[in-house]
Amino acid sequence: MDKAPIESLEFNQCQQAVERLNDFLSRELHPEEETLVQSHLQQCKGCFEKFHFEETLLKTLREKVGQVQAPDGLRQRVMGLLKRG
Ligand SMILES: [Zn+2]
Repeated sequence: MDKAPIESLEFNQCQQAVERLNDFLSRELHPEEETLVQSHLQQCKGCFEKFHFEETLLKTLREKVGQVQAPDGLRQRVMGLLKRG
């Protein structure tokens, strides 16, 4: 794997960024990893758009969950799912 062509290296970075997406969005990454992801997002439009889309979606879902008068158990389950991604 040490002689990977540039394309697959790039792909690998994208894959690593995407693997950290959920943790990144729920602010559960280590600071170093968060920095890595952020610097990748600045270089990679594809990942930036994906992260932005997911973040917007999560925000919308959280707002909806906040508005709905759901029984506590259900609400906690939904929040748990959101947190887990
Ligand atoms: Zn990428």
